[in-house]
Amino acid sequence: MRVDTAHSVTDTRNRPIRDLRISVTDRCNFRCTYCMPREVFGPGYAFVSRDQLLTLEEIARITKVFAMAGMRKVRITGGEPMIRRNLEHLIAMIAAIDGVEDISMTTNGSMLSAGRARELKRAGLKRLTVSLDALDDETFKRINDVDYPPSRVLDGIENARAAGFVGIKVNAVVRRNFNEHAVLPLVEQFRHTDCIVRFIEFMDVGETNGWNLEDVIPARELVRQIQARYPMEPVSPNYQGEVAKRWRYRDGAGEIGFITSVTESFCGGCSRARLSAVGQVYTCLFGTEGHDLRAPLRSGASDAQLLRQLTQVWQGRTDRYSELRSQYSQAVQGRPKVEMSHIGG
Ligand code: SAM
Ligand code: SF4
Ligand code: SF4
Repeated sequence: MRVDTAHSVTDTRNRPIRDLRISVTDRCNFRCTYCMPREVFGPGYAFVSRDQLLTLEEIARITKVFAMAGMRKVRITGGEPMIRRNLEHLIAMIAAIDGVEDISMTTNGSMLSAGRARELKRAGLKRLTVSLDALDDETFKRINDVDYPPSRVLDGIENARAAGFVGIKVNAVVRRNFNEHAVLPLVEQFRHTDCIVRFIEFMDVGETNGWNLEDVIPARELVRQIQARYPMEPVSPNYQGEVAKRWRYRDGAGEIGFITSVTESFCGGCSRARLSAVGQVYTCLFGTEGHDLRAPLRSGASDAQLLRQLTQVWQGRTDRYSELRSQYSQAVQGRPKVEMSHIGG
């Protein structure tokens, strides 16, 4: 079926579906305390079984339907996406979909060997984001909780650069009394490189990470701290609805970003949909319920039928969780929010 690229579905607030984040697995080799705390995601945790997981072909098929609805940018995430076998095959299938203009991936960088980085590039992956919350061993190991040293993530980033990835983003979640001392070292590590560090406010995703507003360091506080050392100026967004607020160093040493999901919400321009590893579509990172596309897919629905379902879901979308945070947490009481590892960051 040809994709009508003029067709674009919008929600109740006139927001199109521009981005799709695909969680290809709910599993991970890290146990970051803010995402998959070991006490919850321990040996007894029931991860998704193989028959529940969408196959790579099913993911590509649903992605195509999203593209028919106007989606243009795909981000592969998880869990740790590089755990998924034949990931490169999925990337190649997605890169070939009519309408998909950009395909990126967020990874913890632990599996970015030189060979794997080259394969990803060859498959058509355009951009990479690597998560790294601290450069000192003690802090980083305390965060990932699997004794993984930051030097190996740095090696992964180098491998990706050598494979030809440019403008790699480095995501650092900053949590008060945890890793705020890691901010300046990260800034210094990536100044004068083409990597862009982005500091992310600790978010209340899911129900298991013990989130507390007091643990959130507002991005403006970090801007002040960095400014005092390295003068910066704001840069206008690359495109409408860009999530990170961009700044550049006045001395020409490059750019950094801040993701202010808690202190300055950006729901007004939010064009992101999320697909879980089992085929549930979520219209907000803080969703409590997904909309199942796997059942219709497996019972033989056509692309047109799937598109109709997706259109219905998106046209009914009212989400603006971050704008309403305080009222909302009461409103959703009793209905647990989905975990980050299910729908990806
Ligand atoms: N495993 C991959 C990784 O860590 O890059 C991809 C999945 S991870 C869920 C995606 C991003 O979400 C990571 O950059 C991670 O730091 C971020 N993240 C996870 N939990 C978060 C939280 N509670 N608040 C803010 N960011 C979070
Ligand atoms: Fe794994 Fe990424 Fe979550 Fe850390 S943030 S536990 S690496 S999915
Ligand atoms: Fe989008 Fe939901 Fe985040 Fe608002 S809270 S920006 S609607 S994902």
